Amino acid sequence: MEHTKGPWIEEPAMSSSKHVRDILQAGGNIVLAMVGGEVQSEALANARLIAAAPDLLAACETALGMLTHVACIQGCGGSGAIQISEDDIQQCQWCDELDSIKAAIAKAGG
Ligand SMILES: [Zn+2]
Repeated sequence: MEHTKGPWIEEPAMSSSKHVRDILQAGGNIVLAMVGGEVQSEALANARLIAAAPDLLAACETALGMLTHVACIQGCGGSGAIQISEDDIQQCQWCDELDSIKAAIAKAGG
């Protein structure tokens, strides 16, 4: 199942707590999530992050699509390992970062 289509917005929660913000689909009235924090400013920052999730997911998917057409800039040839010397092989940071993007997208269900 697909997530609720973005954009999402955050606004003060219907509840009385100032430490809770609601996440809604823009133009909608269904609360998708309630986001809190230790203090009001943290709740706002957390809510903004969650509200940006559909945009962040789309941006990551676009970036991944673009990056998969680019050869590894560290020259590992896609193996994920770089031979530094005869006895020293290092993990390829470029490929690790690409894997992190893939993992973040998978975590989001993308
Ligand atoms: Zn690489």
